[in-house]
Amino acid sequence: MLAAVVRSFTEDLEITEVPVPTPGPHEALVRVEFTGVCHTDLHAARGDWPVQPALPFVPGHEGVGTVVEVGDEVTRVAVGDRVGNAWLASACGECEYCATGWETLCPRQRNSGYSVDGSFAQYMLVDSRYCPLVPPGVDPAAAAPILCAGVTVYKGLKTTDTQPGDWVLVSGVGGLGHLAVQYAVAMGRRVVALDVDDAKLDLALKHGAEVGVNAATVDDPVAQVRDLTGGVHGALVTAVNGVAFPQAVGALRRGGTVSLVGLPPEQFPLDIFTTVLNGLTVRGSIVGTRADMTEALDFFARGKVGPTFTVRPLGAVNEVLDDLTHGRVDGRVVLDLQHT
Ligand code: NAD
Ligand code: ZN
Ligand code: ZN
Repeated sequence: MLAAVVRSFTEDLEITEVPVPTPGPHEALVRVEFTGVCHTDLHAARGDWPVQPALPFVPGHEGVGTVVEVGDEVTRVAVGDRVGNAWLASACGECEYCATGWETLCPRQRNSGYSVDGSFAQYMLVDSRYCPLVPPGVDPAAAAPILCAGVTVYKGLKTTDTQPGDWVLVSGVGGLGHLAVQYAVAMGRRVVALDVDDAKLDLALKHGAEVGVNAATVDDPVAQVRDLTGGVHGALVTAVNGVAFPQAVGALRRGGTVSLVGLPPEQFPLDIFTTVLNGLTVRGSIVGTRADMTEALDFFARGKVGPTFTVRPLGAVNEVLDDLTHGRVDGRVVLDLQHT
């Protein structure tokens, strides 16, 4: 099969023939139709984070395809089912987090396209106990971005602890952010979008944001967001630049919550006095559980959210990563694995 392989953190991915893997216990072999390209794949391929993936590896954690073979002890999926992979490839099922609905925090979890090979390949293995089940009748290319971008922003929005009618700031309107706008609107929130590119703000308005603020062209983006909303009740930061993080904290009204989702390899200063006196909450949010995934896919299957995306062949993966690096992607790029 063809796969896009990361061999070093400084070179392009190599598109090359590799053996089709064999499913072990609990695993299913999936013929991949489409996979989204997440900015996390770029961080992985560049070795951006403190824990780097072992080389060589195959990125990709928004893969959609059909089960073609199952290993021993597989009961949840069967040959012919449409399934996906996800960042949460598997978890231990036994620890305090797995036992309390926080499998996303399992210290023994495995991650697709990072610690196990991902979906930038014509076939992939998934753990049948954890893989997303793609609802029948949906466009498989459009379903792909839901498997990471969709579930992550849906869960992240839940963790802002906002209510219908509340203002939510979506900072960064890329693959994650353009879906965040849609989930927030579907959940009854009012959305103000922040980005550094007018085309991204247009996309946010198209998907239901009430107002957009360009952080690169206005003098004081925080004051602008506060003026427009009276201060937001919640904020979701998906931006890939550290400067967006203290801005989102600054845009909160008293008692507000910011959910940090973007993962630029940077730090930001948190003003102790304002955080304490205004009772602010700053928390991280990482993807979503299997239950969150089912809910996120259900919003999509019912037509409440729908990614903006462009389909490209697997052979274009390095160009796509370059486009992501330079902020040139509108919504998501989805790779077609079978027409390369
Ligand atoms: P993307 O490249 O599609 O989108 C990033 C957006 O941020 C772009 O629209 C860009 O214009 C915008 N941006 C850049 N600088 C900005 C600034 N200063 N202010 C506001 N916006 C700015 O990336 P993506 O695929 O949406 O991923 C976004 C981030 O989320 C990445 O760091 C990725 O690793 C991370 N991520 C986290 C999780 C999680 O579970 N926490 C899951 C998936 C992705
Ligand atoms: Zn992702
Ligand atoms: Zn666990």
